[in-house]
Amino acid sequence: MNSQQAIEVLRKANADFVEQVADSGSITTAVTEAKMGGDQRPFAIILGCADSRVPPEIIFDQGFGDLFVVRVAGNVVAPVQIGSIEFACQQFGAELIVVLGHTQCGAVKATLGGIINGGGDLSPNLESIVQAVTPAVAPIVAENADASVEQLMSAAGEANIKNSVTSLLEQSSVLSALSEQGKLMVVGAEYDIQSGKVRFLD
Ligand SMILES: [Zn+2]
Repeated sequence: MNSQQAIEVLRKANADFVEQVADSGSITTAVTEAKMGGDQRPFAIILGCADSRVPPEIIFDQGFGDLFVVRVAGNVVAPVQIGSIEFACQQFGAELIVVLGHTQCGAVKATLGGIINGGGDLSPNLESIVQAVTPAVAPIVAENADASVEQLMSAAGEANIKNSVTSLLEQSSVLSALSEQGKLMVVGAEYDIQSGKVRFLD
């Protein structure tokens, strides 16, 4: 499956998911016996937030072996995430990486709050997540001096997703080479935790 086909599968499956939730109020996932225990052939890689309300397999209605998922608060990029993603690209030949952020992200909110209201008492480990989100959101705060955290959440969330897309390519010669050869697409997307809709960013 190439990157365009992969993105179309996800787009359509998410539309089905939204319809399913609206119809029945319940969520079913594509788990088939045939896929369990077999080889993994994921057609897409997801770098998603660890938020419990954003499970990639469910919102894209995919089953076992379909998606190679890396989750970390704020969908930030660091060497361990990049290494996992490089492994999946090289081992399985997946041609699509989706950086999946979401509305009302706690990591984005904490970072905005730290910049606007002053940093709290974060542990060094939590601070490392805030540090990874800061380059994306600091310019937005600087351009909107009087705005509140709530007012900036939407722009900051999108900026954080785009920053991870850029960082993946900048910090990985493996991924940037595949991208230049036309064998990999890295795209940002935002999941709306109220509607269940995923919006792919240009
Ligand atoms: Zn989040």
